[in-house]
Amino acid sequence: MKIGLFGGTFDPIHFGHILPVKEARAQLGLDRVIYLPTAIPPHKPGGQVAPPHARWTMVEMALLGEPGFVADPFELTPHREAFTVDSVEHFRTTLPNTDLYLIIGCDSFAELHTWQRWQDLVSMVKLAVLVRPDWRPGALEAQLTPDVAALIGTDKVCFVANQPVSVSATDLRRLLAKGARPPEGWLPGLVLEYIRKYDLYR
Ligand code: ATP
Repeated sequence: MKIGLFGGTFDPIHFGHILPVKEARAQLGLDRVIYLPTAIPPHKPGGQVAPPHARWTMVEMALLGEPGFVADPFELTPHREAFTVDSVEHFRTTLPNTDLYLIIGCDSFAELHTWQRWQDLVSMVKLAVLVRPDWRPGALEAQLTPDVAALIGTDKVCFVANQPVSVSATDLRRLLAKGARPPEGWLPGLVLEYIRKYDLYR
């Protein structure tokens, strides 16, 4: 069994969080991908985020029509920052005999050295790194610390050959705050309806 784990703030979830992951699933032959919306993201200290239950609901709605993609509440409830290494330890116990792939965007990969116990994390998973539109291989490698860069070329890291999707949650929030309609193809219709119903980003 091969399972992908994909953690994030998902504030809100958009197609950049879905289409590249579909490609990762196909390329790596993943049986399932587990999305982990994070209640308190460690990398956004002090930053205002939509309430966890709202981000969870949007993830569920976005994944309804996506067979093989499920959401898990493990990172919603710790009442403290959720560290990916703890989630991976949890899934290693609850999903024995499984190869775990941690799916992350290339911007997250560039920050890997700042993550809690990142070496332990890497010992338990393979990293599947998604391309983002601003990504250039040389530029990314220049941002990595030597010990993270040393993972490239080993079986611990694979770069997904995904079509870049130029949507970012930051840009989306900015547009929604102004009351503007996001361009077609940025996020699932149901998610947009939910955001509007509760005026999430205004
Ligand atoms: P923000 O703009 O709020 O920082 P974000 O999408 O970068 O949003 P998360 O919701 O935590 O933040 O992202 C979850 C994961 O999805 C991260 O690993 C991030 O790198 C990745 N990701 C986000 N947008 C894209 C995209 N357009 N293409 C590929 N990966 C993406």
